[in-house]
Amino acid sequence: MQHYAVFGQPIAHSLSPRIHAMFGEQFGIALDYRAIEAGPAEFPARLEAFAHDGGVGANVTVPLKRDAAVLCRSLSDRAQRCGSVNTLVRDGEAWHGDSTDGMGFLHDLRDRLGFEPRGSRVLLLGAGGAARAVAFALVDAGVGALLIANRSAERAAALADALGPSARAVAWHDAGTPDRFALVVNATSAGHGGRFDPPSLTLAESTFCYDLSYGAAALPFLDWARRAGVAHAHDGFGMLVEQAAESFALWHGRRPATAPVFGALRT
Ligand code: NDP
Repeated sequence: MQHYAVFGQPIAHSLSPRIHAMFGEQFGIALDYRAIEAGPAEFPARLEAFAHDGGVGANVTVPLKRDAAVLCRSLSDRAQRCGSVNTLVRDGEAWHGDSTDGMGFLHDLRDRLGFEPRGSRVLLLGAGGAARAVAFALVDAGVGALLIANRSAERAAALADALGPSARAVAWHDAGTPDRFALVVNATSAGHGGRFDPPSLTLAESTFCYDLSYGAAALPFLDWARRAGVAHAHDGFGMLVEQAAESFALWHGRRPATAPVFGALRT
């Protein structure tokens, strides 16, 4: 039996144990994947105890993704760029850190939802850890222009600088420009508080809207988009399943089918 876990706070309602159990069943892999509650203060000791007890892989979620990066002996290029880690792989006596959020987002957007970002004009709301992962994935996918608006303007500016010439920071209440966006991505956590302060921009019916959050936290953004008449407004549940599939592939060398897991858990 191989030992895996997801660390975070709160963690009791995490779907990751069910997702990974279903992935394991696809390949006949028996794995023990549990949710371990830990805040930043307890995380280093709990991760060490997990490794001592035979833990070979872990996911890390809010609020530990930056802490996890610090605890790793090595980081993938994408984790280094994002400054955060959501996947830990045991490498001898130490942890290797990776970030699968960006690839998970792209798989959901392109493969399940059929939106091709290459050449598109994109507005990204937010500049936190998930926004950074998504921003680098979008630039790697060849977006035409990436505009970033964030509550704290300096974080948006720093992210745009790190991304290079296709990205630029814009003010939250001045995000609208004469050319409309093909894709608007909400990567803020505002919806967890039940709120979304809409940026001042006009959405076209064809504007594709995507919130990284899912469940109730995505509703304020999705309601705003639907009220504006967009035809496509999606939450991040598919991204959750896809980033988990990327983590699974790092641990087991095989990528599971995501559609059956998405279908089973979505209901
Ligand atoms: P962070 O804490 O790193 O970043 C939070 C972001 O939200 C920052 O840009 C912050 O702005 C902004 N923000 C927070 N509150 C407000 C508010 N009231 N109004 C406007 N902006 C606000 O979080 P993450 O990047 O890790 O997560 C962001 C979201 O993405 C969460 O909802 C999370 O659940 C979701 N997510 C989904 C995943 C999936 O698989 N579907 C994977 C990872 C994340 P500021 O910089 O000003 O503080």
